[in-house]
Amino acid sequence: MTTMLKGIAASSGVAVAKAYLLVQPDLSFETKTITDTANEEARLDAALATSQSELQLIKDKAVTTLGEEAASVFDAHMMVLADPDMTAQIKAAINDKKVNAEAALKEVTDMFIGIFEGMTDNAYMQERAADIKDVTKRVLAHLLGVKLPSPALIDEEVIIVAEDLTPSDTAQLDKKYVKAFVTNIGGRTSHSAIMARTLEIPAVLGTNNITELASEGQLLAVSGLTGEVILDPTEEQQSEFHKAGEAYAAQKAEWAALKDAETVTADGRHFELAANIGTPKDVEGVNDNGAEAVGLYRTEFLYMDAQDFPTEDDQYEAYKAVLEGMNGKPVVVRTMDIGGDKTLPYFDLPKEMNPFLGWRALRISLSTAGDGMFRTQLRALLRASVHGKLRIMFPMVALLTEFRAAKKIYEEEKAKLIAEGVPVADGIEVGIMIEIPAAAMLADQFAKEVDFFSIGTNDLIQYTMAADRMNEQVSYLYQPYNPSILRLINNVIKAAHAEGKWAGMCGEMAGDQTAVPLLMGMGLDEFSMSATSVLQTRSLMKRLDSKKMEELANKALSECATMEEVVTLVEEYTK
Ligand code: PEP
Ligand code: MG
Repeated sequence: MTTMLKGIAASSGVAVAKAYLLVQPDLSFETKTITDTANEEARLDAALATSQSELQLIKDKAVTTLGEEAASVFDAHMMVLADPDMTAQIKAAINDKKVNAEAALKEVTDMFIGIFEGMTDNAYMQERAADIKDVTKRVLAHLLGVKLPSPALIDEEVIIVAEDLTPSDTAQLDKKYVKAFVTNIGGRTSHSAIMARTLEIPAVLGTNNITELASEGQLLAVSGLTGEVILDPTEEQQSEFHKAGEAYAAQKAEWAALKDAETVTADGRHFELAANIGTPKDVEGVNDNGAEAVGLYRTEFLYMDAQDFPTEDDQYEAYKAVLEGMNGKPVVVRTMDIGGDKTLPYFDLPKEMNPFLGWRALRISLSTAGDGMFRTQLRALLRASVHGKLRIMFPMVALLTEFRAAKKIYEEEKAKLIAEGVPVADGIEVGIMIEIPAAAMLADQFAKEVDFFSIGTNDLIQYTMAADRMNEQVSYLYQPYNPSILRLINNVIKAAHAEGKWAGMCGEMAGDQTAVPLLMGMGLDEFSMSATSVLQTRSLMKRLDSKKMEELANKALSECATMEEVVTLVEEYTK
C-alpha cells in the first residue's frame, strides 16, 4: 500500500529506488542447553569464516575509498576473528557448559572486553575492547541469521533509510549507488544534511519514523526538493517523481551556464560568492560551481576521518592542497570545531546534557587539554599560508577575551616559525565566526580587533531561538527570516562596516533563496554556501537590483513582526 511521508527537504534532487535499511538489527538471543556440541562448533566456525571474508571485502573497499591507513581498523578486526586462543575458549565453553554457540561467544567475548576495558590507563587495550565488541556483533549476526548493514558493500542503486547518519557514515556513501537518503531525525543544518549537499545526494531528514515504516528492498520515491517520501509509489507517482527529477536537472543545466560569469546584480554591484568545504577533495566542486572563494573550510573533518590526531605535516598537506587548488583565490579556514555533534573516537569528550552548549570548538582549543592541538593546527596553517590566500577564523567565540587569547597563541606560533626561518605569508586576515548572540550584540567592540566576521547562522539561529538545530520537533522555531535574527545579522554587518571590516556569512542561510535578497539589502559582503547552491544564487543575484533590496531589508527590519510577514515582503520585492 502506498504511504506518504513529509520530512525536511535537506538536499535537492529526486530519486526512485529500493530501500536499504541502515539500522542496528536486534541481536538478542536465548541461552539454550544443547547436546550436539559438534554442531554448535561447526555453526561457530561457519559464522567466523563468513565474518572473516565479509571483513576482507569491506577492507578492500575501504582501501580504495578511504585510503590504506583509515582501512587498517579492519585489520585489527580480522586479527580478533583469527585469534586461536579466543576461538578455543569459545569452543571450550560450548563443550563444558553445553550451551549454544551464541551464549558461548557472548560469555567469552564479554570476559575479554571486561579485562581490556578495565585497563583504563592503556588506550591501546581500550581500543582492542572496542574491536572485540564490533567483531562480536558481526559473528552474532551470522549465527542468528540476521543482516548487519554494511554500507561499504552496497553494489546496486538504493535509498538509505536510517535513524540518523553521522558525518563519517555520510562520507562513506558511494554516490554511484546511493541515490538518496531518508532519516528519522535531523534538520537542514545538521551535518549530515550539509554533507549530502556537498556530495549532491538528495536527502529528506526528520521524518520521525521512516525506519519503522520502510522495509528492506521496498520501493521508495524521494524528493529532496519538497521533502516528500512515498513508500510503494504507484506507476503514476514514479513517473511524476522522474519528471520532477528531469526538470531539476534541466534547471541545473541552465545555472551551469553561469559558471564563469561575474556575480553582479542587475545594477552592477558585486557580491563575493564563496563555497563551504569539509575536505580538500571538495575543492573540485567549488571550482566546478564557479565559486569565487572558499568561505568556510570545516577542518574538524580532517580530525574525524583520522584514527588519531592528525600531525602538523598531515594538516599542512591538506591546507596546502586547498590553497593551491583555489589558485590564489581566498580560503577561509576555520580552526577545529570539535564537540556538539562532531566527536572524535580518540579524544575523550565528556558526556554532556547539552553538547551544543558545552565544551566545543574554541573552548577546547583554549583549554589545557586542547592547547597542543590548537598550536599544531595554527603552525600547519601558517606554514601553508605561502601557497595561496589564507584567512583564519575561530569558531564559537562568545567573549572578546577568547578572541584575544586565541590571537595571542596565533602570534606566538607565528613568531616561533619566523624565528625558525620558516616562511609565512604577509597579511593573513584573522577573523571570527559570529554564532553566539552575545558576540552578535557586541559586534561593534569585536569589530575594532578582528579582521572580519563570518556569521554562522546554523548555530546563531539555534542559540537565539533556543531551538536545537538537530531536533525536528522544534524545527518550526528554527526561523532564519524571523525579524529577531535579521536584526542581529544587520547589527553585525553594520558594526563591521563602521570599522572598515568585511562581514560574510557561512551558515546555510547564505544560500537560502528567500534570505539572499534580504542579506544583499543589508550589505553582506561575502556569501558562503554549499558549492551546489552557488550558481542558483548567482542567477538570483543577477536579476535583483541592489537599491531595491536595500529598501526591502530596511522595511523588513523596521516594520515586520513575524517570519511570515518577512516572507511575504520578500515575495513582493523579488517578483
Ligand atoms: C554555523 O554554525 O553556521 C556554521 C557554519 O558552523 P557549523 O555548521 O559547522 O556549526
Ligand atoms: Mg557552527
